[in-house]
Amino acid sequence: MANLGKAVRRAVYPGSFDPPTMGHVDVIARAARLFDELIVAVAVNAEKKPLFSLQERVEMMQECCRSMPNVRVMPLEGLLARFAQEVGACAIVRGLRAVSDFEYEFQMASMNHQLAPAVDTCFLMTHQQYAFLSSSIVKEVARLGGDVSQLVPPNVHRRLQQKFAVPTAGENR
Ligand code: ADP
Repeated sequence: MANLGKAVRRAVYPGSFDPPTMGHVDVIARAARLFDELIVAVAVNAEKKPLFSLQERVEMMQECCRSMPNVRVMPLEGLLARFAQEVGACAIVRGLRAVSDFEYEFQMASMNHQLAPAVDTCFLMTHQQYAFLSSSIVKEVARLGGDVSQLVPPNVHRRLQQKFAVPTAGENR
């Protein structure tokens, strides 16, 4: 990559991604155009009791990002600010949907800036099409048998179908 002698501008996009949605993939694609390298950091997030294991979420995200050569997917354990410093990132990328995201994100960004002053948080507005989309709503709809095929990438859709596989008539329960 022609960097003309400039330092590589690397950013981290952290999240639970339980599971990845089209909203996440849209933010990743846009951030990958803004930075030289983007590390998608998949958080362990034990207290959120994820539906998919860390390994499953990392695998799904790797599949989603395969076509983006400057995007890498890594698991994230521990403090995000420390991780960002360790990988030499200049920015943390977060997506912003409705106003309701703002308060928590503002708090996180302030705390991370305190912990790692050289790392700035950069917010990307959600694409209007995905403004209502969250991993939680996708899980809820998929669990109840609704169609989420337009809301998640095809590989994630397959995994959701496997997770919520409903036995067909005549099968043992
Ligand atoms: P977390 O548990 O850290 O909030 P999520 O996996 O829910 O992680 O989301 C990761 C990031 O992606 C957050 O910044 C969140 O605001 C953003 N995000 C989630 N859904 C969307 C969406 N539909 N459009 C844009 N950004 C989104």
